[in-house]
Amino acid sequence: MVDIQCPNCLRLIPVDRSLLGTQVRCGICQFVFLAGVPAMVHPASTPGFYDPHSGKAVASLVLGCVGMIAWCVPLLGFPVTITGLVLGIKGLSSRHSGMAVAGTTLSAIGLALSVLSALIGFMAALEASRPM
Ligand SMILES: [Zn+2]
Repeated sequence: MVDIQCPNCLRLIPVDRSLLGTQVRCGICQFVFLAGVPAMVHPASTPGFYDPHSGKAVASLVLGCVGMIAWCVPLLGFPVTITGLVLGIKGLSSRHSGMAVAGTTLSAIGLALSVLSALIGFMAALEASRPM
């Protein structure tokens, strides 16, 4: 038997070694998940473990926050929020999925505001160029 961590309730549950790599049900919260790495060597608790998607999740959150300000300038808002959105979606599969969700949400809001800001700027430019 090995202890694996339930990704839902984070409790350690004993699983027969032969069940690793198969779908198991957490006895505490009934969450069904893929039994992977035993908790003792769980990637999340291994220092220096490289999670290719966690960086994206963090970057997405940062870009989402930047996008909250950057949308005022459409030229800046578009690249920041679109990048944040893409990274956030890619980061959803990482163990920082909470950050990725927040980053994706913030980026989506920032992108919507950028579009709005661009439209307003465009309208203002039209208005200004109109002959009196
Ligand atoms: Zn559980």
